[in-house]
Amino acid sequence: MTLRTLSALALACLSSPLAAQGLSDAAQVHESILTLDTHLDSPANFDQPGWTITDRHDVLHDTTQVDLPRMIEGGLDGGFWVIYTDQGPNDARGQAAALAHALKRLHQIHDFVAANPQSFALATSAADAAQIVAGGRRIVYISMENSYPLGNDIANLEAFYQLGLRMAGPVHNGTNQLADSTNGEAVHGGLSDLGKAWVKEANRLGIIIDASHAADSSFDQMLELSAAPIILSHSGPKALHDHPRNLDDARLEALAAKGGVIQVNSLFLSPDRPRPSVDALRPKMEVIDSLPQGERTQLMKQWAQANAAEPRSGTDFDRYMQAVFHCIDLLGVDHVGIGADWDGGGGVIGLNQISDIPKITQALLARGLSPADVEKIWSGNVLRVMAQVERVAAQQSGAPAG
Ligand SMILES: [Zn+2]
Repeated sequence: MTLRTLSALALACLSSPLAAQGLSDAAQVHESILTLDTHLDSPANFDQPGWTITDRHDVLHDTTQVDLPRMIEGGLDGGFWVIYTDQGPNDARGQAAALAHALKRLHQIHDFVAANPQSFALATSAADAAQIVAGGRRIVYISMENSYPLGNDIANLEAFYQLGLRMAGPVHNGTNQLADSTNGEAVHGGLSDLGKAWVKEANRLGIIIDASHAADSSFDQMLELSAAPIILSHSGPKALHDHPRNLDDARLEALAAKGGVIQVNSLFLSPDRPRPSVDALRPKMEVIDSLPQGERTQLMKQWAQANAAEPRSGTDFDRYMQAVFHCIDLLGVDHVGIGADWDGGGGVIGLNQISDIPKITQALLARGLSPADVEKIWSGNVLRVMAQVERVAAQQSGAPAG
């Protein structure tokens, strides 16, 4: 937590004393509250040679959006760090390759925490978050985007739970053995029988069910079947933009009615734009791993600048906040959070790396929310869901919640 960004902004606004006062208050609130983002795809960057979480990077140099120095500057206390797996062929060989990939990513997450014990700590319960922050460290919950790596054996979910997994979504882009996807064929009419068993096993273990990327039919069935509230770790409201990855108001209301939370995504909030310079570089980016270090760095910079010059859409910070406000107006402050898909394609004009997030707190306060409500949005709601998930698991095992 640091005041640097907002102090700089406040100084820049001294011509307007009231605005400066507002920024200063916002900086203090942002400093004092616990902040979590529920979808940090940053572990994907661990494969980049020479890239480390403790060095400062810039989105304009290498497209990355999260590292320790920028978390400190932006006042992000932590979040759910994602084991993401591309959807591949749904056969034994594809699932085995996916499992190997997921295990590698899981190890990389454990390794970065172990290598920086003064800065990061693994969290496995809702109660851990406040304790870790009190100790001056950043929070690392582990989540899984796409449960394809589990194959056809639901017992694998327990293996990942034992290794720290506390949130999981069944599916990504492309229907798999568990569920129909927003971007895939309707094969199962929602969840497969295996997907239904996956929901029950997640409840039994105490893993938060994440319905982002699940088809509407899969969402409906997860919500119906789950004994605990579920979450959308990075999704948006369809009311702003009619896209398959966004949910209609009736589904969001059903989510909230069962105690769940939508963590608002920064993607898919307005139509995509053509990106000729970005597209022209894609073939080179496909083979970047085969290039010598110097050429790789050069190409990465070209890629980062093309991405900045041609944003995926016209979505800017105000549009992002419109999505957040829509969800708050619809559901109340107890059912909305932040999951901007950092390092997974997220980021918008004016909110493009993690150091920018104090602006979100400032906008929430300017909207009239109390600091306590702002903290619910930044962490309280997801931690409440997690505590409920823990209670359901404890009830199912007959043990008291720990
Ligand atoms: Zn995603």
